[in-house]
Amino acid sequence: AAKQRGRNCFQYFTREMQEEAVTRMQLIADLRRGVSEHQFVLYYQPQVLMVDRSISKAEALIRWQHPSKGLVMPDEFISTAEESNLILPIGRWVLEEASKTVQMLQQHYDPDFQLSVNISPIQFESLDSNISTWLQQLSSMGLSGQSVVAEITEGMMMSRSAEIREKMNAFKTAGVQVALDDFGTGYSSLAYISEYDIDYLKIDQYFVKNLTLSSDAYMLCKAIIMMAHNLGIKVVAEGIETEQQHRLLLDLGCDYGQGYLYSKAVDLGAFEQLLHDQRLPAE
Ligand code: C2E
Ligand code: MG
Ligand code: MG
Ligand code: MG
Repeated sequence: AAKQRGRNCFQYFTREMQEEAVTRMQLIADLRRGVSEHQFVLYYQPQVLMVDRSISKAEALIRWQHPSKGLVMPDEFISTAEESNLILPIGRWVLEEASKTVQMLQQHYDPDFQLSVNISPIQFESLDSNISTWLQQLSSMGLSGQSVVAEITEGMMMSRSAEIREKMNAFKTAGVQVALDDFGTGYSSLAYISEYDIDYLKIDQYFVKNLTLSSDAYMLCKAIIMMAHNLGIKVVAEGIETEQQHRLLLDLGCDYGQGYLYSKAVDLGAFEQLLHDQRLPAE
């Protein structure tokens, strides 16, 4: 009986693993098709100036319009896209699409409008000249490097390869600003912040979620903001959902806020409407 059960367990285990592998292969096949059939779309989430809540920037966030699953969120496919290197064509598309959007928004709403894009470490590490092609494209579109902010994560700075350093330098030379995303959750070393020329620190939503006046999160946010400002770095808080969180971060001197309190990520049409409404004189 034991042997019987053992064999069943074994079979069950392998079947589960097999199903997982099949699901993953299916996802990769779907993603590949998504790339060739242009199934991706960018949504835009406002980043507001804390002092008056005006929209001064936005972050571009990818969504996948899957033919049968509907709108798929990035957490469900970005890591598989990274493992399969499909993040390279996807990332290239994101950069192209973001460039077109920022060009249009600058023409119609604000010549200084800035758009943040998330850059995967794979895009940095690859020998594929993804990034430099994109920088050339920006200038050929008449866009200054200042038009975009590259959001990178701490993990990327840990591999101190010459390529990463070289690409970071290419960004800075082109005038592209750099934001350190999800700050405080990775294996951060404060040394990286001064070693690389960072323009923005994005406080991870984890700290914002736990924010009350007497919380540890409050002390951490306070310390992060003070440190950043002393280094000449601006701070963006992510995941602001309540008035209390807004108030506490405003009082701590946080520069920009991003979160459902102001707006979730919306499609380009809805985002334009937000910019349009903001230009109407207040009653
Ligand atoms: P992220 O770059 O840290 O983006 C912020 C995420 O927090 C977004 O999730 C946003 O919708 C969500 N968020 C914003 N405000 C709030 C809030 O108040 N409450 C809560 N609960 N969530 C909020 P999203 O769009 O699902 O993206 C998840 C992650 O996927 C991003 O995290 C980023 O790491 C990755 N990602 C998104 N677009 C791209 C892309 O184009 N390329 C790459 N490589 N990664 C991307
Ligand atoms: Mg981001
Ligand atoms: Mg983040
Ligand atoms: Mg994140």
